[in-house]
Amino acid sequence: MNEYEWDLVVVGGGSGGVRAARMAASYGARVAIVEDRYWGGTCVNVGCVPKKLYYYASHFREAFEAAPGFGWTLDAPRFEWETLKANRRREISRLNGIYRELLAKSGCEVIDGHGRLIDPHTVEVAGQPALRTRHILLATGAWPFVPEFPGREWVVTSNEIFDLPTLPGVLLVVGGGYIAVEFAGIFNGLGVDTHLVYRGDKLLRHFDDSVREVVTEEIAGKGVNLHLNTDIQRIDRTAAGRLQVTFVGGGQLTADVVLCATGRVPNFHNLGLENVDVALNPRGVVAVDGLYATSEPSIFAVGDIIHTHELTPVALAEGMVVARHLFGGGAEPLDYQFVPTAVFSQPSIASVGYTEQQARAKHGAIRIFESRFRDLKNTLGGSRSRTYMKVIVDADSDRVVGMHMVGDEAGEIIQGMAVAMRAGLTKAVLDGTIGIHPTAAEEFVTMRTPVE
Ligand SMILES: Cc1cc2nc3c(=O)[nH]c(=O)nc-3n(C[C@H](O)[C@H](O)[C@H](O)COP(=O)(O)OP(=O)(O)OC[C@H]3O[C@@H](n4cnc5c(N)ncnc54)[C@H](O)[C@@H]3O)c2cc1C
Repeated sequence: MNEYEWDLVVVGGGSGGVRAARMAASYGARVAIVEDRYWGGTCVNVGCVPKKLYYYASHFREAFEAAPGFGWTLDAPRFEWETLKANRRREISRLNGIYRELLAKSGCEVIDGHGRLIDPHTVEVAGQPALRTRHILLATGAWPFVPEFPGREWVVTSNEIFDLPTLPGVLLVVGGGYIAVEFAGIFNGLGVDTHLVYRGDKLLRHFDDSVREVVTEEIAGKGVNLHLNTDIQRIDRTAAGRLQVTFVGGGQLTADVVLCATGRVPNFHNLGLENVDVALNPRGVVAVDGLYATSEPSIFAVGDIIHTHELTPVALAEGMVVARHLFGGGAEPLDYQFVPTAVFSQPSIASVGYTEQQARAKHGAIRIFESRFRDLKNTLGGSRSRTYMKVIVDADSDRVVGMHMVGDEAGEIIQGMAVAMRAGLTKAVLDGTIGIHPTAAEEFVTMRTPVE
């Protein structure tokens, strides 16, 4: 008689958890998955998907502005926040249903409720018999972090921003990471007087320095008011219900909404970690080995709760490794080299491989190719925005070790480059590739002269 009712209980029905559960079930494992808030997790409900929908919405303004240059006359277009919110909600609830259905169809037991660890083999969900299981996968994701300052109770986070009751007249975004710059671009595009405060001198700390410079300049050029090298000191609510923000050093701004995009922390809320021996690493996230086992042998963890890259495709890949390792006959550790990433700022950014600084440290001698140009569309459209591209090559091997772009559809272009880089792309191969004309992407195969 089998001591356990389940082979795997997954806590968290987001990107990593859903993928691991479905795949484990496809290998024949008896799988239950528990979700307490929204099927599909952060990405589907308050992350990638709604963000990209709002990003599309925010681009129409630029298109309307460019239209006369191409011969179009438009009556004054009007934007309705309520319509966008309602349409987004409808689409997201459709996706929630799809996620649930996919899980059920793959044979998983789908449980709505909060999962709490009782011991290394038991998960408790209120109103359910305790789930006794051979293995547990923790995939509870991350949660917005708001630093301490007077008036922090007045801010919203990325969890609330999609459903603001009204479109603000003035928005202040706090933070310089990708979530901050994405929302600043979205609300600026929707016509909101948008400000961003960041304590550094350039946005997007982890990106290549040239990309950071270009994008900081471009974002300001699109009309976002940047308050750099300062931070928020306090927020006071005025009698009229607006938010009086005081910056470190004394400046002030009155905003309708303050969005704090100041980082995310693992979601351990009422998870029962005290009942098991799951160690955290010095960064405060769950410590795992190469196959995502925690220090408690029956418990695994993937996704934002272990904080490798905080990206949906990475959480999915980690979830698949766990399923393969436990039920699919074994798995190799994931290779995190050349994980591509995009920022849906305006203009957008995409990167794969090393920054110039990292490449120099790793390879010593490198060759750098750069290009900054005005996109054909902008000549008649009138936008002053310019596309930027950078290729970093290891001088000894000729291997391309970094590719970076700031400009329209950067994510679509860099995704293909990431495939080539994993296949061992060299500069000679880029040079020997015929371009597609007229595109921005062809610039990647026509850069001939290194900048140094
Ligand atoms: C605003 C924003 C934009 C983003 N944009 C992108 C993007 O463009 N591209 C990209 O790749 N990534 C993006 N991300 C990151 C991406 O959403 C995450 O990396 C990804 O969702 C992580 O997956 P996960 O499985 O670790 O956690 P999640 O997807 O967050 O899933 C965790 C789930 O666990 C549930 N849960 C938590 N505790 C319990 C419990 N005790 N019991 C039951 N259920 C529980 C939660 O409700 C949640 O549904 C974005 C994130 C944010 C916030």
